[in-house]
Amino acid sequence: MSDWRDPSTLDRVEERRTDPAWVEALWAHPSSVVLDVGDAAVAAAPDGGLDTRPTAGPYDAGRQFLLGLVEGRAWFAQWAEVGLTPLRSIMDGLSAADLQVAFTGAGLATWHANSAFCPRCGSATRVVSGGQTRLCDVCGRELYPRTDPAVIVAILDADDRLLLGRQPTWVPGRVSVFAGFVEVGESLEQAVHREMAEEVALDLTGLTYLGSQPWPFPRSLMVGFAARARDAGFTAAEGEIEAARWFTAPELRAALASGEITLPPHTSIARRMIEAWLADTLLHPQPA
Ligand SMILES: [Zn+2]
Repeated sequence: MSDWRDPSTLDRVEERRTDPAWVEALWAHPSSVVLDVGDAAVAAAPDGGLDTRPTAGPYDAGRQFLLGLVEGRAWFAQWAEVGLTPLRSIMDGLSAADLQVAFTGAGLATWHANSAFCPRCGSATRVVSGGQTRLCDVCGRELYPRTDPAVIVAILDADDRLLLGRQPTWVPGRVSVFAGFVEVGESLEQAVHREMAEEVALDLTGLTYLGSQPWPFPRSLMVGFAARARDAGFTAAEGEIEAARWFTAPELRAALASGEITLPPHTSIARRMIEAWLADTLLHPQPA
């Protein structure tokens, strides 16, 4: 499983990608590959891996985006409308390197698909730097892909029980830790306090940063925290949190074993936070 604390396996070649001739030569290199991507979707092979193809034909800078190099091999992504598989359905089976390029490719291509026009003057924009940027030639505005930060919080009580809840739209039995988007002008920590007050009406202390993970559905960055509830008495927000409950580790293991509840995908930071709590390493991380 991917550990997002390690350096990325994807070299985004920031310095060289501003040279169009270099990017075009990279496209023509025999070892280069291209992956079809769409909104939260990728081309998948029958074995559940990524279905890449050798790059071929003339390079089209407007729709073929350089993701970067993985062990010296160039990866491109191109927008496709058909023949794709939802990323969520295969991501648990991808290697760390493939997950990185799949998340980057789907997120980047989705941004391009929604950024054809300049937000300042309304003129058409064009792709530059091998897909890293878009430029408006009329007013000179440069556009960069957006990432929306969201906080995700493992709430513990004084006895180290973990609060898990579910949203009404989730598959039956699914429970997880709590999450919400950061507002404009707000720190990550302020977002933790506000969101958890809104969702479960808990007053928190002892916020501890755990780690982060890209989540391109469509363009989030999940920022994980642990926090301690000053009081165990919570109130689930009507319409937003369908149910919530404190678990001890044995209670959670039993509920999982019986099939009463299920957890989020293995690839998610939510799952890793819950499993770290089960292993008693959430606040006492093991060396990487
Ligand atoms: Zn413009």
